[in-house]
Amino acid sequence: MFFKQIQCHGDNFSYVIGDESTKEAAVVDSSYNADEVTQTIKNLQLTLKYIINTHCHSDHTAGNIELQQAYGAKIVAHKQSRTSPDLKIDDGDVLKVGAIPIKVIYTPGHTADSVCLLVNDEKLLTGDTLFVGECGRTDLPGGNAKNMYDSLFNKLLKLNGEMEVYPGHDYGPTPSSTIAAEKRSNYTLKPRSLKEFIEFMSQP
Ligand SMILES: [Zn+2]
Repeated sequence: MFFKQIQCHGDNFSYVIGDESTKEAAVVDSSYNADEVTQTIKNLQLTLKYIINTHCHSDHTAGNIELQQAYGAKIVAHKQSRTSPDLKIDDGDVLKVGAIPIKVIYTPGHTADSVCLLVNDEKLLTGDTLFVGECGRTDLPGGNAKNMYDSLFNKLLKLNGEMEVYPGHDYGPTPSSTIAAEKRSNYTLKPRSLKEFIEFMSQP
């Protein structure tokens, strides 16, 4: 599997996933990195099949139209996304990029349409739900601290500890992490009751 984390402009991360034998590829959150995404696709002679968004915020969907016009790829987002994607996804759906499965985990909290993407059962793309050393804010429109608690503690932390974590922004000491490392060191993931977590998230 080809997998590349891209950060050229600002602190947004973009990801290119490709199957080297079939040459099919997907980009997750092209953000402001469409030029580097295009270069990567060109260099490897990949065919872009999907433009996937972890959620509807414009710093993540930037580049969607540019890449769609260049490659005719389908824009993919959660069914509650306000961006009217070509393909609507929901919890448990599996997209295929060549032979690589990308499983959708619905993780509302930062927005109502936030998803995490489990790539090849080894890499978790967490968008603005979980960062290295942080979690996403819940005070923007569509945000919900109760849903964030459920997404973090009942979904993401239940995954295999060795699962690699690739966030939507470069906010931490390292560009990626693992579920086990975040469980150990991320202060937002300290054991808390739902009530404690909601209080914690409402602090300025
Ligand atoms: Zn966001």
